[in-house]
Amino acid sequence: MKTIVIGAGAIGLSSAYYLRKAGTEVTVVDQAEPGSKASAHNAGWVVPSMSVPVPAPGMLPQALKWMTRRDSPLYVTPSLNPRFLGFMLEMLRNCTPVRFEAGLEVLAHLSSDTLQLFDDMASDGVLFESHTDPLTMLYTNSENLQKHATELEEMEEHIPGFKWRTIPGNDLVNECPFVRKGLAGGLQTFGDRSLDPASLTRGLTAACRRDGVDFRIGHPAKIRIAGNGSAEVEVGGEVLRADKIVVAAGVWTNKILADIGDRVSLLSGKGYGYDLPLKAGGPQFPMYLAEAKVAITPLSAKVRIAGTMGFGGINEQINRVRAQGLLTSLPRYFEDWPSITTPPEPWTGLRPMTPDGLPIIGTSRKRSDVLIATGHAMLGVSLAPPTGKLIAEMVTGENASRHLSSLAADRFRL
Ligand SMILES: Cc1cc2nc3c(=O)[nH]c(=O)nc-3n(C[C@H](O)[C@H](O)[C@H](O)COP(=O)(O)OP(=O)(O)OC[C@H]3O[C@@H](n4cnc5c(N)ncnc54)[C@H](O)[C@@H]3O)c2cc1C
Repeated sequence: MKTIVIGAGAIGLSSAYYLRKAGTEVTVVDQAEPGSKASAHNAGWVVPSMSVPVPAPGMLPQALKWMTRRDSPLYVTPSLNPRFLGFMLEMLRNCTPVRFEAGLEVLAHLSSDTLQLFDDMASDGVLFESHTDPLTMLYTNSENLQKHATELEEMEEHIPGFKWRTIPGNDLVNECPFVRKGLAGGLQTFGDRSLDPASLTRGLTAACRRDGVDFRIGHPAKIRIAGNGSAEVEVGGEVLRADKIVVAAGVWTNKILADIGDRVSLLSGKGYGYDLPLKAGGPQFPMYLAEAKVAITPLSAKVRIAGTMGFGGINEQINRVRAQGLLTSLPRYFEDWPSITTPPEPWTGLRPMTPDGLPIIGTSRKRSDVLIATGHAMLGVSLAPPTGKLIAEMVTGENASRHLSSLAADRFRL
């Protein structure tokens, strides 16, 4: 069986990896270098414990409060476009406790074997930098801490063996050097991981090539329908034929689906980050600044700071004020963050967002030979292996896991 994967981000590469393992002939097509978009520009956390949908109870009042700040962690670029408004309304409809709970269950189920799958990839020779240090979340506000603690309690039911603990405010300073005195406290999760996301996409690309996956890089892909009715992919003047086509093009997915008259409910969620040099006295383990919504990931050669969520169109331009909000939040949590004399250039990444906070992993509503894998929002790295495995199961007709209807491409009113 021949398959084509459009998009060489974490999701496309993982799909290609498992499709090849399942015995199909695979070609990966990308207009840019593999892993050069959101899949390289993120915090690199593999976090079953944070596998919760973005639309959550209380999101609207918080968003409205933040809207007035130019450097806030969450913002919406206003638009009267009916599709944009429809997405936002649908997202609001998903902010109820019942829907949040249902979404959490699906995401927890999807992420339940991801650590094992990452380990299996590593044993298979997929090279990437990965760390097992516990994730420490810092809170300036005890109500926020308590709310998240309740969520973690619930996660215990969904993730076998998941462990976490509360760190009282007074103990934080002893446990986490250079954290500011007077914080409300911390939460620490055990069993999550952090990795260098660019190393993951490099490692997956190399493993795919090793296993015989063909890559066509540097030209945008278009799907077209051949005279005999089958779908083909046109790339750089060449026409590629396959039994199944997987569209895993992140926020650009709808541009490709338009070729077959399809679309999914997807919006871009823009994030920013900085890679700071490693300094003595800097953080040694991953940290989350809860109220500022900033992730800090120490890696072997840099400390990565990532965050912000901007709902809007597909736009990779960098708004420096917005990006610098990440750096200005640091003194709220740290007594003496190693000085940043000249901040490096910020980077940006566009997260593919869905209105219910669940990915789309399923068949196109227009064609049974086109599958879609996108919409992973803040969890595209965490969920890359289970998504790839699920896509391979769907393509080869294996018994795919439950919850598939919650992930179906046609679940939204458009
Ligand atoms: C600031 C930030 C922090 C994050 N932190 C985390 C985290 O800690 N943990 C986590 O799990 N997730 C995190 N994420 C989310 C994660 O980065 C994304 O969910 C994930 O990268 C999406 O991967 P993807 O493969 O779907 O998309 P992408 O990485 O965007 O890949 C899509 C690919 O499709 C290609 N493409 C587009 N159009 C075409 C075309 N016409 N023809 C051919 N190719 C095409 C693009 O060039 C691109 O390579 C974060 C994101 C951001 C922005």
